Amino acid sequence: MSRRPDRIHFSRAAAAACLAFWAASCGPKAPEERPYAALAEELRAEGLRSEGAFAVLARLTSEAGPRLAGSPGVEKAVALMRGEMERLGLETWLEPVTVQHWVRGDSARAEILTADGLAGRPLAVAALGWSVASPADGIEARVFEVSSFEELEARKAEVAGRIAFFNRPMDRTSLDTFRSYGEAAQFRARGASEAARSGAAAVLVRSATQRIDDHPHTGMVAYEPDIPKIPAAAVSTAGAEFLSAALKKDPELKLRLSLNPRTLPDVPSANVVGQIRGTEKPEEIVLIGAHLDSWDLGTGAHDDGAGCAQVVEALRLILESGRRPKRTIRGVLFMNEEFGASGGRDYAKNGRRAAERHIAAMESDRGGFLPLVFAVGGGPKTLARFGRWEYLLAPLGLLGMRPGGGGADIGPIVEKGAIPMGFVPDAQSYFDLHHSALDVLESVHPRHLELGAIVLAVMAFIVAEEGI
Ligand SMILES: [Zn+2]
Repeated sequence: MSRRPDRIHFSRAAAAACLAFWAASCGPKAPEERPYAALAEELRAEGLRSEGAFAVLARLTSEAGPRLAGSPGVEKAVALMRGEMERLGLETWLEPVTVQHWVRGDSARAEILTADGLAGRPLAVAALGWSVASPADGIEARVFEVSSFEELEARKAEVAGRIAFFNRPMDRTSLDTFRSYGEAAQFRARGASEAARSGAAAVLVRSATQRIDDHPHTGMVAYEPDIPKIPAAAVSTAGAEFLSAALKKDPELKLRLSLNPRTLPDVPSANVVGQIRGTEKPEEIVLIGAHLDSWDLGTGAHDDGAGCAQVVEALRLILESGRRPKRTIRGVLFMNEEFGASGGRDYAKNGRRAAERHIAAMESDRGGFLPLVFAVGGGPKTLARFGRWEYLLAPLGLLGMRPGGGGADIGPIVEKGAIPMGFVPDAQSYFDLHHSALDVLESVHPRHLELGAIVLAVMAFIVAEEGI
């Protein structure tokens, strides 16, 4: 049997109520029981006192640094985070993942060649993930600016031999920054092949951020098969505005773009797993996950070092509370989310899964910001059932529950029946730094980060104890 301190709490509350009843002969009924309220308070206090998640994130970002899949940094991160888990006393292991190995190269340049008074003016650019290299001395071409795929289609006769420049600003009007990001990022993902279909020589894509600054934001380009692969780069928003204004003055303007990334053979890597084994139903798993790889312009502090640190810290908080759940709580730090989520797929396919049943999966991959709400998938009935725990959220600073949950890495295990759930943080500033050199430790607030770890710990423990 697992320890049930909340039952003890109940007994005390019940005893107090009985005494009150005797004293008043017909006093009010005993206050409603609030299971796990004491646990939530305890974990909140310990988490906020220790700020353990930030300490893990500081080690990850300083000792492993940028963690592009296939890089030495990400392999250091695998060893480091497994070591963190072992140090806590978790049962840990690695599971194999095959990862693509793309190397950024050491030179990304875009320079205006011709235009009155602008010759030699550089623009801040970064190669997109998977981009092929330009010729060594760069591509010199006129620039073709568009703001939509429809416009590209309508004017496709003009694209051949030019550098296609997708200059669609990320929408500022919606509160749902993930939606606005998705709309803007489609040009990054699909722009190269759409432009190459009409003969473009290269593609330059405005960075997917609402801020106007000089930091390019990278991300993956999705080359379509059977269409020539052309060099693809992100340009900073300030660079995009400048280039667009220059093109209005001089439509003949020429740009030189040079990039030298390389794609190398696939390499073996690993998902890092650490768990607290369940005392009664160990084969039933509550997964809490994040991805260990990152982009390489910063140190991936928010994306997704934050999630990894929260997973490790949530496990620590549970362990140190002395409680052991009936079902297994498993932390998984997935490899290779950014280059196609192979870690999540390989996890779901691993032979070990045959003897397991994942009942819930929570992924933290929306930045280490202040948690706002707790999202629960699986349909209205699951949300209604889970609603009985809603009273635990306000003391943790959350506004409530809503439908939702999910993540790229847990997608495959959710397809096999796990209910997706997780906290949703405030993402108003996430895309200011996402995939850019600004995604570093200094941009993470220790208390915001910790509150996410606390919510993960509390909710994972409840699901592991009560089921869904
Ligand atoms: Zn991410």
